[in-house]
Amino acid sequence: MKSKLGECPICGSKKIERHIGPLKVQISKGKFIKTPDVEHEKCESCGETITDYEAEKVIDESLAQTHYRKAA
Ligand SMILES: [Zn+2]
Repeated sequence: MKSKLGECPICGSKKIERHIGPLKVQISKGKFIKTPDVEHEKCESCGETITDYEAEKVIDESLAQTHYRKAA
């Protein structure tokens, strides 16, 4: 898919593409969670994953669920 951003905010490369898939998010030292499918952009040059507001909402949601499970 074509990128909305056009270039990587980290390295300035134009080799970024939009992807849909789960993201691995670090929640604490050495601890990661996998989110549901999220639309995000990935830079082919530096490997940076770029998330927008919609993606952040999905990530926040899965973080909240993780904390809920932990408390229960
Ligand atoms: Zn980059």
